Amino acid sequence: MSHSPVENVVIVGTGCAGLTAAIYAGRANLNPLVLEGSMPGGQLTTTSEVENFPGFPAGVDGFQLMQNLREQAAKFGTRFEQTLVESVDFTSMPRKLICADRTVLARAVIISTGASPRLTGVPGEKELYGGKGVTTCATCDGAFYRQMEVAVIGGGDSAAEEALFLTRFASKVYLVHRRDSLRASKIMADRATTHPKIQPVWDSVPVEVMGRPEGAVSGLKVRHLKTGAESILPVKGIFVAIGHVPNTGPFASVLDVDDNGYFKPVAGSQVRTKIPGVYVAGDCADHVYRQAITAAGMGCQAAIDAERWLAEHE
Ligand code: NAP
Repeated sequence: MSHSPVENVVIVGTGCAGLTAAIYAGRANLNPLVLEGSMPGGQLTTTSEVENFPGFPAGVDGFQLMQNLREQAAKFGTRFEQTLVESVDFTSMPRKLICADRTVLARAVIISTGASPRLTGVPGEKELYGGKGVTTCATCDGAFYRQMEVAVIGGGDSAAEEALFLTRFASKVYLVHRRDSLRASKIMADRATTHPKIQPVWDSVPVEVMGRPEGAVSGLKVRHLKTGAESILPVKGIFVAIGHVPNTGPFASVLDVDDNGYFKPVAGSQVRTKIPGVYVAGDCADHVYRQAITAAGMGCQAAIDAERWLAEHE
């Protein structure tokens, strides 16, 4: 397996955190290398309108925002390579990132691998995931459900946002939530619960995704938690929006993670880890705020810390 030359700083991940780190590291003349995983641009590329990123009073398309960040990073000398990190060796310098095709060597590393959508695990969900009716991305798949009934599962901002987006296409959107109010921000919750096409299904959990594995979704069986009654929602599409799991697997045996798998930085820092010169940023290390702007802020912090650390360890 081949080794690359020793990089100043390698950034793993291309979401808001990784690309912001790349802009800062690039402007600091560190010639950063960014390793892109299987979803370039990260979660924002699956969002429609981003209304709360400062500086865009009219909102900005999530995909476009990520394109802009990438262009800005490239302008300052960032290089991009598509490869998946499978494991790491941080026991000596340079740090080693072991990928399928080669080992990448780096003096400093910024891990910004984000988080992936969580699924419910009910029978039928896995079998009918993908092009068969179960999905986690309304922006990607919503247009396939014109004039059809669909269900969104979840009660957070993502669920509210997905449900509202789907009203552009679907004839009716069931919003299935296990409690009797949404956890989403008030503005999103109000918009969703008052929309004429959205019907909340309170106190209910999915029990089974109906449909033949070789065919398509024909319904969602739900159970009312207070009465135990089961019913079938006659939907063709099911959009799961129940949160995320952090993508920390290849690093979790080497860096500290919490009970849910999120990176735990050292006390007094949001981004520094127990390994000198190794930083974490964005949703893989943040289960509290999880916003595009906070991820970008962490990417900025990680790049500035990495730059200072490299300068001190010439
Ligand atoms: P979230 O806030 O963690 O909400 C997850 C939802 O799924 C909760 O309502 C939860 O129920 C429910 N849930 C979890 N596990 C479940 C299960 N096994 N079965 C059924 N329901 C389940 O996640 P999110 O909506 O993805 O949002 C993540 C972060 O991104 C938040 O900080 C959010 O504010 C932010 N975000 C912001 C925007 C925006 O500002 N436009 C858009 C999207 C996301 P409980 O309520 O009972 O816990």
